[in-house]
Amino acid sequence: MHLQPPPPVPVTKIESLDPVLERLEAQGRPFDPDLLRRVYGFSADMHRDQVRRSGEPYLFHPLAVSYLLADLKFDQTCVATGLLHDVLEDTLTTRDVLEKRFGAEITELVDGVTKIGRHAYVRRDQAQAETFRKMILASAKDIRVILVKLADRLHNMQTLQHMSPEARRRISRETLEIYAPIAHRLGMAKVKGDLEDLAFYFLYPHQFAELHSKIQEKVKLGQEEVERLRERFRRTLEEAGIEAEIGFRVKRYYSIYQKLRRQGIDISRLYDYLAFRIITSTDKDVYAALGVVHQNWRPVPGRFKDYIAMPKPNLYQSLHTTVVGERGQPFEVQIRTREMDLVAEEGIAAHWRYKEGKGENLASDLNILWLRQLLEWQKEIQDPRTFLTTLKIDLYPDEVYVFTPKGEVLCFPRGATPIDFAYKVHTELGHHCAGARVNGKLVPLRSTLTNGDMIEILTSPNSAPSRDWLNFVVTSRAKSKIRHWLNAVQKERAVEIGRPLLEKELRKYKASPKKVYDGKAMAEYLEQEGMSGVEDLFSRIGFGKTSPKHVVARVLSEAQLAEPAEEPSRLRKVVRKILPFGSGPILVKGQGDLLAFLAKCCNPVPGEDIVGYVTRGRGVSVHSTDCPNVRNLLYNQDREIEVQWAKDDESRYRVTVGIEATDEPGMLAKLTEVIAKLDSNISHLEAETVEPGLGLIEVVVQVRDRKHLEKILKALRSIPGMSRVERRMSSGNGARALP
Ligand code: MN
Repeated sequence: MHLQPPPPVPVTKIESLDPVLERLEAQGRPFDPDLLRRVYGFSADMHRDQVRRSGEPYLFHPLAVSYLLADLKFDQTCVATGLLHDVLEDTLTTRDVLEKRFGAEITELVDGVTKIGRHAYVRRDQAQAETFRKMILASAKDIRVILVKLADRLHNMQTLQHMSPEARRRISRETLEIYAPIAHRLGMAKVKGDLEDLAFYFLYPHQFAELHSKIQEKVKLGQEEVERLRERFRRTLEEAGIEAEIGFRVKRYYSIYQKLRRQGIDISRLYDYLAFRIITSTDKDVYAALGVVHQNWRPVPGRFKDYIAMPKPNLYQSLHTTVVGERGQPFEVQIRTREMDLVAEEGIAAHWRYKEGKGENLASDLNILWLRQLLEWQKEIQDPRTFLTTLKIDLYPDEVYVFTPKGEVLCFPRGATPIDFAYKVHTELGHHCAGARVNGKLVPLRSTLTNGDMIEILTSPNSAPSRDWLNFVVTSRAKSKIRHWLNAVQKERAVEIGRPLLEKELRKYKASPKKVYDGKAMAEYLEQEGMSGVEDLFSRIGFGKTSPKHVVARVLSEAQLAEPAEEPSRLRKVVRKILPFGSGPILVKGQGDLLAFLAKCCNPVPGEDIVGYVTRGRGVSVHSTDCPNVRNLLYNQDREIEVQWAKDDESRYRVTVGIEATDEPGMLAKLTEVIAKLDSNISHLEAETVEPGLGLIEVVVQVRDRKHLEKILKALRSIPGMSRVERRMSSGNGARALP
């Protein structure tokens, strides 16, 4: 058990206006103390009889809020609004009174802040959503409303222990989910850290106490070493001629807690809790200092981040690296200029002063654009709960920034995967990607990257892109590289299919393939057809764009063509004329005029599931969805088109049937008889003996539809001596897929 420690952020306790004026003075900008005194007097008068739950005068709260605003370097209008922010809500004052006394600007702001909080306690989800809708509405007019609200929330969090346990939880949760992210988005690191640590303290007291005591222990034990380290930093940088301030701090509790949880690390193994900060005077010294640090301390791979080259959306700039100390424990080092440090701590406040100094309008600011966008979305969303969800999600930008093992920062669209990452780094890394580690943990290739991930790609020489990857990669680079690879593989496969087809045809005429390939006729043919070589020809045959018969007719001499070789078959070879058939019966969805034809490889029949592919210049080829060509992906998926069978069709469809049969007299007669009886025609028949007593028959029959085909297959199977009667589909133009 751990004793509950004090809250991680001290209570801002202000009992008079003087500290507020001091903070304003420290800003070095002109302001009107008389106006603030009048505002203060009015607020004190209005709140005079009220007390807070702590028992203190209510006035201490607006005083603390205005002090926080002055301390955050916001202008006197903000500070005045802080003093008045509760008068419309909690006292009898009206807008008119305020406007008469202090003018329209302050009144608008006070009204804006009031509206943010007005419905806070109605119904929980509704009320929260309402709150944020109004807040955004108001902020679109003036972002100072949000700044005052953040200061108000910060002081309320500092004094939360006076609230009921239920209220503590509710307010803490809201702070974690809504206000801290807004502070973060506006670059206000300190406010964000304070809000988160306080919410953590009240929401998870046990976890906080445990972490707190662990860190105290570590800080105590490591104090000397840390001081030594700081001294070494100072000396090393000085020797290198770099002027810099060196500080160190314990990281924020909530960020440590989240990191432990994210990485599943036990508190006892916590070591990365310290951050050193090197503040240099000039830009070039930042990188010089980084070089010095990396020369003297071993950097942890993958932990270097350059937010100078790539600032965060909230304009944060800094170098981050993690190096290993003397005893092997890593610690983070942040290196930046004084200016960057100011922006890092104050965010929009620093940015604001800069713009103000240059007389620029803050409305052009990126942050305001972000808020305006939220406002636009808000208009479209009716359900306040939906809006709340949207607001939570879209506090984060559309991009994710991740790191290579070398520490390079790469930017990806949201939803990117390790495959996208691999292809961005190198094409070959993508092609051979076999797995991925994110922050040292193996993850599926389809998992999405999140900000700050360190990605390591595992490769294997045997790994290759899969078509499945196209379903989840998001970058166009990865998509096109994968497609390109798949096409190349398809071409290779087509070559493998096309070559034996052509050679089989050549051998029918006793022509030597090698001689034909090297011959003059082939060279001429290739040139006329615009092909780069025989490989190109093989792939065309494999893709079914050219038939081997056609090629043979062009490249062999008339004398060769006149003498086809004898087929070594005992069975009679029967060839019948193929009946022509039309392209009428298939409808292409929404494209009545497209010419459609049945693919030769599978010859689908009515009643069967079919799919269409748009071919180059030949219309739509229609395949059975079971066709191996469809499954083997010889086709480009983008060319797929929906097709369906037309009704009332009189056509006949050709189907190839393969049969194994005992080689005996009368077999073919029985076969033709059965087919004729079932009202079908044979358009082609081939038979050959493969081994003594066993023949293979391939017959092309004409059928009306699927049912008709099934009848024929059944009848053929019933003939004695016939086995393995099967419908055939081919995987290339003429290449038989079945054994
Ligand atoms: Mn308040």
